[in-house]
Amino acid sequence: MEKLIYTFDEGRSGNKELLGGKGANLAEMTHLGLPVPEGFTITTECCMNFLADASFFEKQLKAEVLKAIQNLESETGKSFTSTENILLVSVRSGAVFSMPGMMDTILNLGLNDHRVQDFAKLTNVNFAYDCYRRLLQMFGDVVYGIHKEQFNVLLHQMEKSLNKKVTDFNEAEHVELIESYKNLFSKNKVAFPQDPMEQLFEATKAVFKSWNNQRAKVYRDLHHIPHHLGTAVNVQSMVFGNSGEESGTGVVFTRNPSVGDNKLFGEFLINAQGEDVVAGIRTPEPIESLQTILPEAYNDFIKHSHKLEQHYKDMQDIEFTIENGKLYILQTRNGKRTAKATLKIALDLAAEGLISKEEAIMRVSPEVIDQLIHPVFDTEKLTAVDAFATGLPASPGAATGSIVFTADKAKEYTALGKKVILVRQETSPEDIEGMVVSEAIVTSRGGMTSHAAVVARGMGTCCVTGCEALTVNESAKTVLCGNHTLTEGDMISVDGSTGSLYLGEIPTIVPENDQSLQQLLTWADECAELKVRANAETLQDLQTAIDFGATGIGLARTEHMFFGEERVLEMRRLILAKDEEEVQAALNKLLSFQQEDFYQMLKTVQDKPMVIRLLDPPMHEFLPHDANEIKSLADQLNRYPSAVEKQIEKLQETNPMLGHRGCRLGITEPLIYQMQVKAIFNSAIQLAKEGLTICPEIMVPLISEKAELDYVKSFLTETIEATFKEHQMEPFPYEIGTMIELPRACIIADQLAENADFFSFGTNDLTQMTFGFSRDDIGKFINTYKEKQIMQQDPFQVLDQSGVGELIKLAVDKARQTKENMMIGICGEVGGNPESIAFFQQIGIDYVSCSPYRIPAARLAVAQAVLK
Ligand code: PEP
Ligand code: MG
Repeated sequence: MEKLIYTFDEGRSGNKELLGGKGANLAEMTHLGLPVPEGFTITTECCMNFLADASFFEKQLKAEVLKAIQNLESETGKSFTSTENILLVSVRSGAVFSMPGMMDTILNLGLNDHRVQDFAKLTNVNFAYDCYRRLLQMFGDVVYGIHKEQFNVLLHQMEKSLNKKVTDFNEAEHVELIESYKNLFSKNKVAFPQDPMEQLFEATKAVFKSWNNQRAKVYRDLHHIPHHLGTAVNVQSMVFGNSGEESGTGVVFTRNPSVGDNKLFGEFLINAQGEDVVAGIRTPEPIESLQTILPEAYNDFIKHSHKLEQHYKDMQDIEFTIENGKLYILQTRNGKRTAKATLKIALDLAAEGLISKEEAIMRVSPEVIDQLIHPVFDTEKLTAVDAFATGLPASPGAATGSIVFTADKAKEYTALGKKVILVRQETSPEDIEGMVVSEAIVTSRGGMTSHAAVVARGMGTCCVTGCEALTVNESAKTVLCGNHTLTEGDMISVDGSTGSLYLGEIPTIVPENDQSLQQLLTWADECAELKVRANAETLQDLQTAIDFGATGIGLARTEHMFFGEERVLEMRRLILAKDEEEVQAALNKLLSFQQEDFYQMLKTVQDKPMVIRLLDPPMHEFLPHDANEIKSLADQLNRYPSAVEKQIEKLQETNPMLGHRGCRLGITEPLIYQMQVKAIFNSAIQLAKEGLTICPEIMVPLISEKAELDYVKSFLTETIEATFKEHQMEPFPYEIGTMIELPRACIIADQLAENADFFSFGTNDLTQMTFGFSRDDIGKFINTYKEKQIMQQDPFQVLDQSGVGELIKLAVDKARQTKENMMIGICGEVGGNPESIAFFQQIGIDYVSCSPYRIPAARLAVAQAVLK
């Protein structure tokens, strides 16, 4: 017969399957020589045997449990029968995978009507009866299914009639309460067993059965934990920190969990139980003072905590109890910590030689990095308030400010030194100046890749999009949410990392420039394979990207360069031109703007590669839509407003994102793309003359057919060659590649690769076109989809590996059949998502490109993708 029960010194941490997580951990600590209260573990196999056939308990297990208790009695010198050395035990579940609170536990087992009196003599009346009362309640609930609330009702009734708390009861009153509990048992036609052994048998069976209670089953389904594993049962002798002035209990972290310093951090209470520390009735003392109160126990603790840290190679969160001067370690686990402490502890452990550099990289999650570079709300203050609305967490950070509804108001308020939050239905290119000065941006519509989201992430500005609960009325200057109506100037706080909005001001904590982060990222770069580039086009964003360690620019969206007031006017002049002359005039103006832009951009990135994407959005995105703006444009262009309005109407499309945009525009209006490459090469040539080595990478958007690429590429090449000639310059290398953002492009990737120098996957459009989900409207249903578990994640945020990912993989394989070493990148938003990055690593992508503020986390993620 296989072994049914293991004492803690027989088990090891490797026996998790048989002993469960808790049992294995207790065994491991015992094996390390730590003073763990003695006990034993009944295996998970026993649980499954019992659940299959209940007679297993009587026939096989019962005798073993009896032996284990006898053994425990001789080890501890305490027993279930002694009146002086009273053995009490805890009976706890413990599965292989942690299932917190899902199964049952019984404490103080071993008390009965007589023993409670003996126990009271050794401790005190109040404590002894409190233990007994709790035992009855837990036992009734776990073993007989008498709901614990029914016991609470009896307790409260008695407290009310005596007009005092249970902690102030005298012995007679305690006994009366116990009697009422026992009556409750009788009413349910059961009796509380007075024999401790009988209690233990029943408790063990009940804990086994709790493996199959409803909440445990649901929890397992949710976390994909198999149902056949079973739970172990841990029986452990109880120690009491409240047995006098030489006893106590405490919780200590081996390092400071909020800043990471290598110094004990924790507290304890003399003559108390664990619950007293948690309940906050008495104020605990800092762990250092234990040194003067109980020096021996303190020195033991120092020794053991060091041992535990060395063994688990991480900061530990340790629970201990001192019973009559003797220290016991009850539990240890890797301690929870702040972002700052996570980083510091990982680096320190590596410096101390406890873990390798690689392990240090794995210890810090990319989300931690986000918290280290963006402001966050003071968590203590945050717990005191409720969010009034929640949208999509489009760009991390935390900010407070007054609501404004227009870009102009944003500028006006900030000029007066006020902080503002720009709240709109959605943003458009004209809002850019207002967005730049805002502390945060909130939109009621739009997804994770909407204009507001993309621009905000680029600037590192906190942003919440798709907050459908808000009704924004920009002209009335109100925003309605349930019963609240907020107006211009009202203070709100925005958490871009969670998508939550709060009324009023919440203090934020601004991160410091952290040298440790540089250290970790340098290590990460050393083991990374995928490169990290940035999506950026403004000089400020380019500089931020470089400062954050981007190896190049993976996507400069040229339309963002037409957003300023002066530029948008020339773009509008071009779109609405009535003759050739006007076209030329507008193009010349735009050429000079773009030329200056590209000159500065290329100069900023120096010898790093930069992919410049030619104009992508549909034309009408540049045009005004409200009557006042149309009138003012008509004035500027010297036209009739009605004529301008008609022209704008003509440009409207039913499905603009599926419409006249990207290379389609380049094909129907080649002059724009020609102007753009001319501007790129005028400035590149200028910089080459100034001594810089430059290799421009030109990218054509929205290709779905090889002939499109062939056509565009041929006229671009012609223009480029003519430009070299014009400058009497020997041509230097350049590349023309394409975005892959349509399912058809993935399918014909081998053909496209014949005429493309590089590929870059635009996963925003590719996701939109694959699912048929509008990237601007997904906010309307994605939260419901997540709630109803139709989708686990927003596919614009985390790559849909089985659909969109398969298309990308197909395209990569096909492209590499045509051109083995073709450079392939990702420039959609998922390029900055750690989970998606792991997939890109697997399928052989060369680089990911993301917004500048996502670069530090992406650098870590690409390293982790290799190490995993
Ligand atoms: C994309 O579609 O993924 C992309 C990067 O282009 P944009 O977001 O500008 O459409
Ligand atoms: Mg796109």
